[in-house]
Amino acid sequence: MKIAVYPGSFDPITNGHIDLIQRALLIFDRIVVAIADNVEKEREYLFTMEEREDMVKETLKNMERVEVMRFKGLLADLVKKLGACSILRGLRAVSDFEYEFQMALMNRKLAPEAETFFLMPSEHYVYLSSSLVKDIARFNGNICEFVPKVVERELKKKFGFA
Ligand code: ADP
Repeated sequence: MKIAVYPGSFDPITNGHIDLIQRALLIFDRIVVAIADNVEKEREYLFTMEEREDMVKETLKNMERVEVMRFKGLLADLVKKLGACSILRGLRAVSDFEYEFQMALMNRKLAPEAETFFLMPSEHYVYLSSSLVKDIARFNGNICEFVPKVVERELKKKFGFA
């Protein structure tokens, strides 16, 4: 069974993340979406761990072969625990590359049994990021084509527009 771990902050999950998961399902048997439970970064996140997890679970609930979990600590340890053969990451633009390259090589050192697997999203989502969505939502801009319904609702609530 080919298991891929898809780690991220998912603050919040966007259609770009979903696009990547759908592509990965064509290649892997199981995708484990691992939401970073990072206390040090909690202040930088807009949504709490619980809120991020609830939105991801609600969004992916009908996707067979996709599991959602939180993770703390080293990704390499999670990879070992799950017996995953791959770490899934997305590449949108050149700007993602340097950081991802560094992480991939470090993860290879820490967990040589898993390869980092990069996927490109549909061109519709190449410019999409959780940060951009938050910036638009903060001013009540229209984000319906970028995020699932549940996220749109939660963002409106968070910024006091609902
Ligand atoms: P992190 O804080 O770990 O970067 P994110 O939730 O922002 O967490 O992203 C998780 C992964 O999903 C990253 O590899 C990121 O490049 C990828 N990703 C995010 N948005 C998109 C998108 N629109 N298209 C493709 N990949 C994306």
